[in-house]
Amino acid sequence: MQEHADPRSFEELIREYLNVASLSVMYFFIDTFFVYYTKMEVQNTFICKCNNRDYITNRNLKQHRKTKVHLDWENRSELRDLKIDLTRKDNIIKALEADKSHLQELNLMLMRNTQRKTVRQREAHIRDGLSSA
Ligand SMILES: [Zn+2]
Repeated sequence: MQEHADPRSFEELIREYLNVASLSVMYFFIDTFFVYYTKMEVQNTFICKCNNRDYITNRNLKQHRKTKVHLDWENRSELRDLKIDLTRKDNIIKALEADKSHLQELNLMLMRNTQRKTVRQREAHIRDGLSSA
């Protein structure tokens, strides 16, 4: 494998590295918030999503939820929600995989950069030693 000089500076690499890392953190935040929000919505209302009807009490709503109309709707929507959730998680996985390979690539560049710097320092050290002798 031929090593070609990286046009990006060390600082640029670090900045890019941090950008990708913070993007991963953001995905997790969005996902957590989405789950939390969905739960809150369910807890604070007596409206049933199957018919958009507002039930006066939680007991009325619970009774309605035992009906066949509601249970049929629940099965359908549960399957739909699962599919949506699966797609959402698939997208997160794909994004994280892309992040991972990007970070690995950046890691390699940073390591090469550091190695080159060390070699240059050693060479300079040897030159200094020779000139002072
Ligand atoms: Zn319902």
